[in-house]
Amino acid sequence: MKAVILDGAATARAILGETAHRVRALEARGVVPALAVIVAGDNPASQLYVRNKTRACAEAGVRGERIALAADADPSELLAIIAALNADPRIHGILVQLPLPPHHDVGAVIEAIAPGKDVDGFGTAHLGGLVAGRPHLAPCTPAGVIELLDRYGIPIDGRDVAVVGRSNIVGKPLAMMMVARGATVTVCHSRTASLAAHTRRADIVVVATGRPQLVTGDMIRPGAVVVDVGINRLPDGRIVGDVDFAGAAAVASHITPVPGGIGPMTVAMLIANTVTAAERASAPAAASVSLA
Ligand code: NAD
Repeated sequence: MKAVILDGAATARAILGETAHRVRALEARGVVPALAVIVAGDNPASQLYVRNKTRACAEAGVRGERIALAADADPSELLAIIAALNADPRIHGILVQLPLPPHHDVGAVIEAIAPGKDVDGFGTAHLGGLVAGRPHLAPCTPAGVIELLDRYGIPIDGRDVAVVGRSNIVGKPLAMMMVARGATVTVCHSRTASLAAHTRRADIVVVATGRPQLVTGDMIRPGAVVVDVGINRLPDGRIVGDVDFAGAAAVASHITPVPGGIGPMTVAMLIANTVTAAERASAPAAASVSLA
């Protein structure tokens, strides 16, 4: 193997440590940052993700509140919980763990979260802010990708980037953030005619498709940086990404592992967003200026 491993787990720990300092500054002003995580049903992957998020909350000193909802709970019940959390000044971040059982309208649920508390950054207020170049709370996974590259000193400005996947939570916002950072971005997806032709031209390849081992070493330009967002559980229980790690690591200059890459970075950015939301909510109101 030739590539340097981009260690998301260690970087996430460092970010949580830095975030803990910000939490202590808030506590000194009497503010305890709090994240409410709503999980509906008993999807085992969701339960695991929620456990990871509440553990990270504890690591940074953020109060994590887990709210469990029955799998068959009425959509109005979920919306009422969100409305109550929106109105609760002790709660700074609200997250609804996806996927939701199919009888919920995911778009309506996301839009029901007050933008100032939407720490996942999934709502249209945040996505629109990204497009307009006025980010508010950036979606956590794309933010984690950029943060990891930055912390390893990997330049983005002027580079050719291939983003594989066009979801609202990863591919599309990441493409916008990369453009804002000066990259030339190609967004590839399930209808892309020649995926390899695009990935082979890229200095940085980010893959978020949920298709195990979709991107192989021969699709990577020697010396390119490979970021694997995918998390897939194989029938034998192994967790793998969307990239053939061994094949890509033999040609790439840098690569993220799965697990231990973008997964922990996403959680760290979530906690950082929650603290940012708490800082903004508790900032002293700007002094009014008399024009008399
Ligand atoms: P999604 O299902 O919403 O979107 C998948 C995207 O991949 C689509 O845009 C589709 O067009 C594209 N795609 C599918 N097959 C393709 C192919 N053969 N060639 C090119 N593009 C193809 O998925 P998502 O929510 O964006 O998640 C993607 C992956 O990332 C999943 O494995 C998910 O578990 C993982 N994920 C990880 C984190 C994390 O914290 N690391 C966060 C979110 C998602």
